[in-house]
Amino acid sequence: MQLDLKTVYFLMTLALLIQAGVMLYLYREHLNYRGIGWWALGSIGLAIGFVISQFLEDSVLFSVTLFGSRALFVGASFCYYVGICRFFGKSTNLRFLFLLWMGYLGLFGYFTLLLGDLWSATIVFSAVTALIDTATVLLLLANLPATGRGPIVMTSAAFLTMAGLFGIRVVAMLLTKEGQWAPTSVTTTLAAFAVSNLWTYGFISLVNQRLHRETLESQARFETIFQTSPDATLISQMSDGRIVAVNDRFENISGFKEVEVLGKTTLELDLWQVPADRQVFLSLVHQTGACENMEAMLRQQGGGVIPVLISARIMELGGTSHIVSMIRDISVLKKVAAELEANQRFLADVIENNGALIYAKDQTGRYQLVNRKWERETGLHREDVIGKTDVEVFSAEIGAAFRENDLRIMACGCVQEIEEVLESEQGARYFISIKFPLRDANGAVSGICGVSTDITQRKQTEAELAKLNQKLEAIGITDALTGISNRRHFDEVLSQEYARHSRTGADLSLILLDIDHFKAFNDYYGHLQGDECLRRVGRILTQWTKRPADLAARYGGEEFACILPDTDLSGAVSVAEHIRQAIVQAAIPHEKSLIDSWVTASFGVASLHCSGHQSVEALVGQADAMLYQAKAAGRNRVESVRLTEQIEEK
Ligand code: GH3
Ligand code: MG
Ligand code: MG
Repeated sequence: MQLDLKTVYFLMTLALLIQAGVMLYLYREHLNYRGIGWWALGSIGLAIGFVISQFLEDSVLFSVTLFGSRALFVGASFCYYVGICRFFGKSTNLRFLFLLWMGYLGLFGYFTLLLGDLWSATIVFSAVTALIDTATVLLLLANLPATGRGPIVMTSAAFLTMAGLFGIRVVAMLLTKEGQWAPTSVTTTLAAFAVSNLWTYGFISLVNQRLHRETLESQARFETIFQTSPDATLISQMSDGRIVAVNDRFENISGFKEVEVLGKTTLELDLWQVPADRQVFLSLVHQTGACENMEAMLRQQGGGVIPVLISARIMELGGTSHIVSMIRDISVLKKVAAELEANQRFLADVIENNGALIYAKDQTGRYQLVNRKWERETGLHREDVIGKTDVEVFSAEIGAAFRENDLRIMACGCVQEIEEVLESEQGARYFISIKFPLRDANGAVSGICGVSTDITQRKQTEAELAKLNQKLEAIGITDALTGISNRRHFDEVLSQEYARHSRTGADLSLILLDIDHFKAFNDYYGHLQGDECLRRVGRILTQWTKRPADLAARYGGEEFACILPDTDLSGAVSVAEHIRQAIVQAAIPHEKSLIDSWVTASFGVASLHCSGHQSVEALVGQADAMLYQAKAAGRNRVESVRLTEQIEEK
């Protein structure tokens, strides 16, 4: 078959137009892929170049036609090169490539349009084309992947063929010098026809390969998300409800294996404990296209039932509508919530039915909670109290006193037991209140809670008892609080002993002791603790005044005295020292003492050799002076004196 150049050109133009159309379509379909636009531009340039080439026969337009078509051919090669760079995410220097193209245009135009030297022009065109196509081949090979090399190899082969043909042509022309040559030939055009098809397929394959890879990647991503989801996922066909996929978590929650559920409906598997729930779920999904956190009971394979939350969406899969349901097991959540509710109810019952007044206030002192007992005792209703302060609820004076206690407890952040008074029309009411700070989730003090017990009755009984004791004390010899001898008895015994010693002329000693910083002890620990401390000191005194004639007595307040008959000064000092140490060793806590962290006492000891010229008052006075001296010298010590003749004579 004889093919003339015109027919070949026509076929080539037709093929290139089709290729340009294909590339434009590819570009439109994959706007997110870079580079395809450049390939389309290249193909269009090539197609227009061939359309223009039809006019090469025309002798008038020959030079212009040749210039225009060859400008487009070389431009197309540049476009392919840029497109490949972009496709593989490489940067290109467009300005440099444009300048190269302009340089080529200048040289080619010089030979064709000015000199009419077609031979040189053809060499320039062929050499430039061979060079760009070689660069394109190198670029493609630089991006050869480890697997799936086909598309790149095919495209490289196309450009390599092109580069080879034009390279050979340059060499052939240079060798034959002015020999036989033609600007175009059937062979080169046919070859161009073949390779342009080849690279078009190559480009399409590159795009397809990338698409395929991305599809695989997104499938793998979806599969990972699907299987690692903490929620069970179930995908079913919308038309007939048949299950097409479930994830591993679904197997955990429901107990059904994947093979047991595929192709079945949730109804057939009897997954809904309440079938009406399924109707609600389906109508929701059908009407709104979704379902959010619907609570339902899921029946498991073994017959167990668990509470779940279901959320669903409609999704198109393989062209048909499917329901994707996410099922969350909330049995643990439900159990915790139920336990929490039970705890809260228990706590509320304990508070509400408590025999003590229970109340809570926020940091600003506003009531947040009061119990029934509180309402009964104060005669106020919680509706009138919540949100108000003590000043608003009671009087300004009582409110300020309560607030002061509350503020102190919130500041120290500790539990405290305090006595509080509530004055009312019926008279004063006394309460023992245990108050402690409330804390927020971060541990910061957010308010105060109090538990108060009415001790008015007890107070009255105590007061009556105290009065009775005082009466008894007046006629008795024992100190009601400590159980040791009282002051009256002490005075009597001391006078008797003094008289007896005056007759026998023996040594008589007296110890006076006073607890250190006892006022601070009372203020800090309260009077009840203070009394207990006095009782303990009393017991220690009894233990250390062992002789039958010895007498330990409460001298007054927190002062004690010991009468030591037939005892000289050194003996008395030794007893005093033993008592002092025993008090320290008793380790009665005394935070507010300036001496120690325990209760201590100071001692004054006086001793005299009875000659009948002294007085009891002098002995007591000297013991008291020594006690004063012990206090002044720093407390927790024993100071002593033996009454001398001068003193005795005074
Ligand atoms: P110093 O070390 O100087 O002796 O200081 P002090 O605080 O012990 O002395 P002060 O005389 O100032 O205080 C004595 C306190 O003893 C006053 C009172 O609170 C307390 N007190 C006196 N009698 C009793 C009592 O029968 N029971 C109780 N609980 N405390 C008492
Ligand atoms: Mg005192
Ligand atoms: Mg004291």
